[in-house]
Amino acid sequence: MSHPTAGRTGTTTRPPARAKGAAPPRPDVPDAQWNDWRWHMRKRITNVEKARDWLALTPDEEKAIAESAGTYRWSVTPYYASLMDPQDPACPIRQQGVPSLGELAAYSGAEVDPVGDMFYRKTNRVVHKYPDRVIMLITEACPVYCRHCTRKFHTTDVSGTYFRDDEGASYEEDLRYIADHPEIRDVLLTGGDPLSYQDGKLEEIVSGLRAIPSVEIIRIGSRFPVLLPQRITDGLCEMLARYHPVWLNTHFNHPKEITPEAAAAVDRLLRHGVPVGNQTVLLRGINDDVPTMRTLMTELLRIRVRPYYLYHCDNVTGVSHFMTSIEKGWEIMAGLQGHITGFGVPQYVLTTKIGKIPLAQPYFTPVDGGLRLRNHHGQEMVVDASVHPLTEDDLR
Ligand SMILES: *Cc1c(COP(=O)(O)O)cnc(C)c1O
Ligand code: SF4
Repeated sequence: MSHPTAGRTGTTTRPPARAKGAAPPRPDVPDAQWNDWRWHMRKRITNVEKARDWLALTPDEEKAIAESAGTYRWSVTPYYASLMDPQDPACPIRQQGVPSLGELAAYSGAEVDPVGDMFYRKTNRVVHKYPDRVIMLITEACPVYCRHCTRKFHTTDVSGTYFRDDEGASYEEDLRYIADHPEIRDVLLTGGDPLSYQDGKLEEIVSGLRAIPSVEIIRIGSRFPVLLPQRITDGLCEMLARYHPVWLNTHFNHPKEITPEAAAAVDRLLRHGVPVGNQTVLLRGINDDVPTMRTLMTELLRIRVRPYYLYHCDNVTGVSHFMTSIEKGWEIMAGLQGHITGFGVPQYVLTTKIGKIPLAQPYFTPVDGGLRLRNHHGQEMVVDASVHPLTEDDLR
């Protein structure tokens, strides 16, 4: 099979538009390698020279790559690079994966950890912010370092780790904290991307959690289905299935990310009984319009991924240039609610130091004698309190 190959000289040609269901264009790499996630991890793009195999980098991108090098980690899998438009720096995939000068600009109100993960951290890895569930930050490694990452502080120090000197270190203290707090019934493994670990290491952690009787569900937050779907092997899925109930939430931001490979990865998870949900971040210039979001949500349903959250982009240092207004989020939610399948509509939330706050505008206002309702077309009606009593007292 021959593929249009991006030239090393910068004289790349734009690949032809991809037919639905067709494999993305890629350089001539044998299938055995292209389908092997370890090959992609070894071949990750981490410098300008390698990036030129895939993209006609702009001077601004090259400058951003050079200037961010001491500050933020950078890496792109060949698979994710293959989804990028080699000619267009505004490509929604490219903007998620290639540094831009916006990352280095100063924005008012930006913070390294606006959601307070470090404030709620109880052990090296466990963040306990909600009554019945915790997150466990088990790694700082990711296949691609998304430019909009809300935990960009993990990758702020390129040489090192935000946690105590740890990745190989014991999980005993973390597991003990969870066992000692039987109110914790839901543990969400995140990071970084937990699937960066080999299956064996991951199984140690998952089985350690499963051995705690009070832990009911285990969740994994992973962007591998988007950034390197080849990682979702049958072996991985079989391992996870031994520790059910296991759920996985991933992070598709744009319809271009829904490829045959991604669909196959999701299918493998689902066939092993792992429900797959999606968390999208609302990103300026990437997915901040109604048609893109409608397509994203309905395409997710086609591959049986359930939209879960639409995150308002936090004012994270190095990420602020992707922020939209909250009004933009409302516009997008108004373009989804009632217009597409009910369970294709995510919940729009703002993550803060006091938790995730639902931001959706209400479709009702209390008025004298009842409720004024508004639908997705803007039509209104009032339901009378004599028909639908508002308060317990009205019922009597
Ligand atoms: C998001 C988050 C969770 C999980 O929240 P859900 O709303 O249940 O998905 C748990 N702990 C922390 C610290 C979080 O940020
Ligand atoms: S994969 Fe997730 S944790 Fe890693 S950089 Fe991307 S958004 Fe951040």
